[in-house]
Amino acid sequence: MNRRPPDICRPEILEIEPYRPGRPLSVSDEDAAGLVRLMSNENVLGPSPRAAAVDAMTGANWYPDGGATALKSALSARFGVAPERITTGNGSNDILDLVARCVLAPGREAVYSRHAFAVYELVTRLSGGKARVATPNPADDAMPMGDNPRAIQECINDATAVVFIANPNNPTGTWLDGGQLRDLLRAIPPHVIVVIDQAYAEYVEDADYVSAVDWLDEFPNLVVTQTFSKIYGLAGLRVGYAFSSAKVAEWLNRARQPFNVNTVAQRAATLALDDADHVAQSLAMNRAGLRQIAQGCDELGVAHLPSVANFLCVHTGAKTPEVYDYLFERGVVVRPIENYGMPGHLRVTIGREEQNARFLSVLGEARRELGV
Ligand SMILES: *Cc1c(COP(=O)(O)O)cnc(C)c1O
Repeated sequence: MNRRPPDICRPEILEIEPYRPGRPLSVSDEDAAGLVRLMSNENVLGPSPRAAAVDAMTGANWYPDGGATALKSALSARFGVAPERITTGNGSNDILDLVARCVLAPGREAVYSRHAFAVYELVTRLSGGKARVATPNPADDAMPMGDNPRAIQECINDATAVVFIANPNNPTGTWLDGGQLRDLLRAIPPHVIVVIDQAYAEYVEDADYVSAVDWLDEFPNLVVTQTFSKIYGLAGLRVGYAFSSAKVAEWLNRARQPFNVNTVAQRAATLALDDADHVAQSLAMNRAGLRQIAQGCDELGVAHLPSVANFLCVHTGAKTPEVYDYLFERGVVVRPIENYGMPGHLRVTIGREEQNARFLSVLGEARRELGV
């Protein structure tokens, strides 16, 4: 009777800040239709129509193909990487977790930059490892608040097991060019795993950007992760993948749950990968939208970070919470990023032209009304 819940949870877990998702959109379907959802870097065009045709229930009584054979074979053909060097995951976040489980433990360290993707901290803490957080670029750098290769290099010591780099990074939108990234890879000791998280790679059109997939043979310690959550529009299905040496893929394969990617996700991802029209349409929308929002912000006198991804990080200053609420109350949902150490910024996903225009118009109104 009257017994208290146990106090046996690991302290590392209790130190974790629970993940704060975008504010739940608990509105009627009718209201939801008018919402401008620009908070989680999803593809507002929706999933590839080919993927959308998958019947979710067919074969749902059978366990998934635990080896994701068809999906890996499609990825192998697309990227020219042998299937035994490919790992699939329940989102690429699953793979980040697998890497951490394989190489981190108490006494070992992960290195990542100060405003890097939040999941690096989460998986590091879960594994019992320690984070060494690199100083980011200063605000007046060409890549303000982005990863600083020298600072990352200086964090590496005998305890380092893994370095996480998102390229481009979320939430800053900043990136490392091919030369910088390759120099950094060369400077990192070969026993340290380097994860290059390319969740937004399909969006990048900067001429100096290089996909790290090209360097797998040169750097056997490299793990390149990509996802179906962004340009492919399948965030809700949770499918990601990684390329690595066969040896590292074999570690990840041991650490994963046997059925970590469900049947629907495997089928839909395999079809989406071949839908070049949907990808091209999404890319064109993003290219135009990035320009539209960046120019619109410039006209409003709102500073923003550079971006090659499907979002832009805008500087909204001391009244950012008020600006966020003002937008939200008018049906424009963006993402506050104070949990990334950026309390004066909002991250806005690139949407369709009319959605971007709505964001800009309400942002302009907010600035006049709130006096910012
Ligand atoms: C969105 C995002 C991902 C994708 O995670 P999934 O688990 O594949 O949905 C990974 N890395 C970064 C930096 C992201 O912004």
